[in-house]
Amino acid sequence: MKKLGTMLNRAQQALIQSKRITVTTALVTVAALTFGTSAFAADAKIPVVAAENFYGDVVQQLGGDCVDVTSILSNPDQDPHLFEASPKTARALQHASLVVYNGADYDPWMAKLLTTSKGTQRTTIVAADLTGKKGGDNPHLWYDPATMPKVARAVSAALVAADPAHKSAYDANLAKFLDSLKPVDAKVAELHGRYTGVPVTATEPVFGYMSDAVGLTMRNLRFQFATMNDTEASAADIAAFERDLREKRVRVLIYNSQATEALTKRMLKLAQQSKVPIMSVTETEPAGKTYQTWMLSQLDALGQALAAGAASGAGTSGKTGQ
Ligand SMILES: [Zn+2]
Repeated sequence: MKKLGTMLNRAQQALIQSKRITVTTALVTVAALTFGTSAFAADAKIPVVAAENFYGDVVQQLGGDCVDVTSILSNPDQDPHLFEASPKTARALQHASLVVYNGADYDPWMAKLLTTSKGTQRTTIVAADLTGKKGGDNPHLWYDPATMPKVARAVSAALVAADPAHKSAYDANLAKFLDSLKPVDAKVAELHGRYTGVPVTATEPVFGYMSDAVGLTMRNLRFQFATMNDTEASAADIAAFERDLREKRVRVLIYNSQATEALTKRMLKLAQQSKVPIMSVTETEPAGKTYQTWMLSQLDALGQALAAGAASGAGTSGKTGQ
């Protein structure tokens, strides 16, 4: 109740200063009642919880000074697939008016918490619902260039509904955000024009949708899903992955530095030995980056790795399927 408490204290102080102490209690009660529905005081921020920090970043960009965003997953050194919610997570949710999460089994703890958390009235936005994805699909939806515009539109609509007084600001922020994604789309189109059909592989499927958008041919998917699900890849899948690297059948190894284990590290080493260029990616947005600069810097890194791979003759002979 920190935010609400701050707001009420400020309201109380204003009333005391204007010597209308007798009506304080009644007014505070009204404020407390309306807060839970949708009427926010002019200076109260909308409390938002995002399960992942890239969604939190986008909410912050869209809401500006009008939102108070808490992101649960924000450490690019921890594997989000192994995350378990704590009482702290549940407490953050309790006062959220807007909740944004990925869905498609990426953050199953969030759906669970929402069913058990009583909380106030809140709006929930699930990226998987907006993109037609479900459990079993590749859950790394934010790497699909089509996802974030949909999330942004839904978030913006929720902010306008909660705080109609600032509609023009939210509309302007949304337009600015959508516009700022154009360089990402342009980079995807540029790489697509140059590298369609080029074979690559990855230790985990985090970059899968972006790789598809660029038109690359992604190999060793079963191995990648085993890494993601923390299960054991089959001997045949491991052998196929090793052959791809040793024989340079792939132009680039996309290495998820946030979901690692002995086997993925072995593949990293093998790629280095075989001179297959490596591109490092993370699941979580790194500090100091926005969603847009993060995506752009990774696409730049991909472009460099693909060019280096072409120069060293990687991924030019691999025409066979998985
Ligand atoms: Zn992952």
